Formats: sequence, C-alpha cells, structure tokens
Amino acid sequence: MRGLTRLREIERATRPADPEFVAALARRWADLPDIVKTPGQVLGRHGVGCEGTHGVFPKCNLACTPCYHSRDANQVRVDGGHTAVNVTAQMGVLRRLRGPRAHAQLIGGEVSLLPPEDHAETLAVMRAHGREPMSFTHGDIDEDYLQALALGPDGRRRFDRLSFAGHFDKLMFGRRGIERPPSEAALNPYRQRFADMFARLRREHGVAFFLAHNMTVTPANLDEVAAVIRDCHGMGYGMFSFQPAAFIGDDRRWHEDYRAATPDAVWAEIERGAGTSLDYRVFENGDVRCNRTAYGFYVGDRWHPFMDGDDPRDLATRDAFFRYLGHVNFAGSAPAELVLKLARVVARHPRIVPVAVAWAARAVRRAGAGNLVRARKVQPVTFVMHQFMDAADVGPAWELMQQGRTSDDPRLRETQERLAACHYAMGHPENGTLVPACVQHSVLDPAENAELRRLLPIVDVRRRARGSNVVPAP
Ligand code: SF4
Repeated sequence: MRGLTRLREIERATRPADPEFVAALARRWADLPDIVKTPGQVLGRHGVGCEGTHGVFPKCNLACTPCYHSRDANQVRVDGGHTAVNVTAQMGVLRRLRGPRAHAQLIGGEVSLLPPEDHAETLAVMRAHGREPMSFTHGDIDEDYLQALALGPDGRRRFDRLSFAGHFDKLMFGRRGIERPPSEAALNPYRQRFADMFARLRREHGVAFFLAHNMTVTPANLDEVAAVIRDCHGMGYGMFSFQPAAFIGDDRRWHEDYRAATPDAVWAEIERGAGTSLDYRVFENGDVRCNRTAYGFYVGDRWHPFMDGDDPRDLATRDAFFRYLGHVNFAGSAPAELVLKLARVVARHPRIVPVAVAWAARAVRRAGAGNLVRARKVQPVTFVMHQFMDAADVGPAWELMQQGRTSDDPRLRETQERLAACHYAMGHPENGTLVPACVQHSVLDPAENAELRRLLPIVDVRRRARGSNVVPAP
C-alpha cells in the first residue's frame, strides 16, 4: 500500500505540466496586449514574468546616481520582522495572481543590511510560495555574511542553491576600498571578489549558485560597457544585465542627460562586448522597448546564441520548444525530477527528439567542435537590457489606465502599452493587486516610504537635552 502511494507521488511530481501553472500561463497570455503577442514571446508560453518585493528593507548604505528609491528610503530602519511579515503577504498575492512558479527578486534597499538569519528566513518564505528568489545587493558584502546565510548557526548547509544579483558600476559611491571608482575597470577586482566568494561556497560547502551582474548605464559609462563584458564574462556570472538610467526615484540623484544613453546605443555596446550581434527578437520577455534579452553561451572568449534568429530551422525549434516544453517547469524541478518529466514528454511526443538533435548539432557546428574540445567548458551567459521609464511619463499614463482610458499622446500611449505588458511586477496585499515596478518607483514609493518612516523610524541615540525621550532621526 505504501509502495502504491509512493508511486502515485512520483507520478504526480514528474507530470510534465502542473495544471495550475498551465492555467497561470493561459491567463498571462490572455491578458497581454496584442502588440507583444509575437512568435518569440516567452510570457504566457513558458513563464509568467519576474517579480520583486517593495517596502521591505528600503535602506541602502551605498549611494548611486541615479537611485530609484525615494528620498525617504534611507530614513527607514531595517527590521527583519517587518521584512518577513511583508514578504509573506506580498508573496501570497503573487502566488494567487501569478500561479505556483516564478522568479522573484528580494529587492528594495540593500539586502545585506538584513541580518543573515532574517535574510535566510525571507528566502525560505519565498521558496515556500513557489518562488525562485534572487537577492539583490551592491556586492560590498563579507564572506562571513554569505556563509552565515548559506550555512546557518550550526554550520550545516541550509540552502542547496543561492541566487544573487550584484550591482557594480562606477556611478555608485561608498564601496569599501574604492569609495569613488575612477573607472569601470577599477571595479573589476571587486566584481571578481564577489563571484569568488560564491565559487568557494560551492567548493567548500556544496552550495550551487546563480549570479547576475547588474550595471546602470549613463552617458558617463556607456563606452565602458563593452570592456566590462570582455573583462568579466569568465568570472562566474550567468547574466549581464544593463539598465539605461531613467529619471525615476530620488531627483536629488539625477545628474546627467540620461536619455543620451539610448537603448540602441546601450545594446550596441553590449554587442561590441559580446563580439557579435545579439538578436533580441528570438525570445522576448514582455515588450522589447522595456526588455531585450539574448540567451547563449561562451566557448573560450566567443559568445554564441542558443538559437540563431536568421536560421528558420532554429526558429522552428523555438516554436517546438514552446509547444511541447513550454509548460514544463525547468527551474523549479530537481534534476532527477526534470529528467523524468522530459522523458514523459518525449514518450508522448517522440518527434521532438530529431528536432532537438538537429538543433544541438547546429549549435555545436556554430561554436566549432574543435573549439568546444579545446575549451572543455561551455559557460551559459544571458545578456539583458532593462529600460525603466521616466516617472514624468509613468505617473500620468498610469492614472489614465486606472480610469480605463487610453492616452491620445503617442508618448503616453507607448508608456501605457509597456505597462500593460510589464514583465516585472510587485504585489500589493492591501488591495490584492499587482503593479509594474515602474509604477511602484514612480508613483507609489514616496507615500509608502513616508509611512514606513513613521512605522520604522531610525532611532537617534542622542537624547534631547531636556527629558529622556529617544527621538527619531529627521
Ligand atoms: S517595470 Fe517598467 S520598464 Fe520594466 S518591464 Fe515593467 S513597465 Fe517595462
């Protein structure tokens, strides 16, 4: 009897598609504006989009230009209890509206200001809600912190895998050892040090990792983007994500004409760094005016796309992937589980085997079999560009959307289209809704942080001259 129960459990765990996930994908596709229902659209076919937290630890101890957080953010105390309660509530909304599986960013201020125990508890909450969490940090963290997070007080491993995004660029001030970076290249040892800590954690304690490298781009560092990619692609980062700066957040930190670093100019620099053109239409995540993505791998110093957008056979393979494997949850499955899921898909649709074999043969031919043998290593690296919108556009566009109105102004209409197809959502437990991160930072953050400042004041240890009241810092 117990054996039968176990078999049923295995059967359920290895079903290629979770019906709840399939339903969430269908809802996502139905809600997308027609303009983004392109052949390469990932939303609604393989994923529901990315998610992020807000208002759970707004404070940061570095200074960026620009900074997307509101002026009040640094006046809010970091409080692990507040973080856990609010992340739980936000994950509940995301779980209900976006389904059982998604990638979610633990983001707000600086995540490492959370004590390791609180950080670990929050990651566990996110996982319990079916989220694959990624912690966002400026990367100026100590190895002790990382070990305490990964291993716990008893020294035993508590996470098999961690995902972090490290933000490094010369527009950030206050990093220990390099308070005002003179160039992007000067930050390379810090980029390497950050990645090395994770490599050691894996080697010594068996904790797998995924690392993203994030960089804000303005006219001041645009022409250094290519060198960052060339110098750092082998450090261990699986993703290089670039954010052209937007006029959003704290207006005291707006110092340049950010729009001079246009999306095309930034993408051209990324291509220069990758040493090849990058086709961002093969796979699309939401609106390409918000996100451009190119998936591929390095063999030695050369990057190759997984799929060549100029080859109709690769595009047919992509379509087959969406059709037969789109509903399979790759990231959230244990390796053995995934193998069984794939085996069940193959058993049902054997025609995908020759398609996959032919695609793999083309990919090997493109990379060069000799190069693969010589390099003995294939390193998957994804290039991303995410272009936030300006608060001056998002505010009025969002207000009209709340009234169910479409703007006549082409600029606001474009903003509305992009918001409607948003790939990056945040949950609001107070009214059970999701909002695009652009709206969160442009419209909602100021009031939310003003309220948090009252709720979690930073206590000033100086006491008033008269009386013994402890007063909140201004
Ligand atoms: S957060 Fe803004 S820029 Fe990013 S995907 Fe959503 S609408 Fe587009």
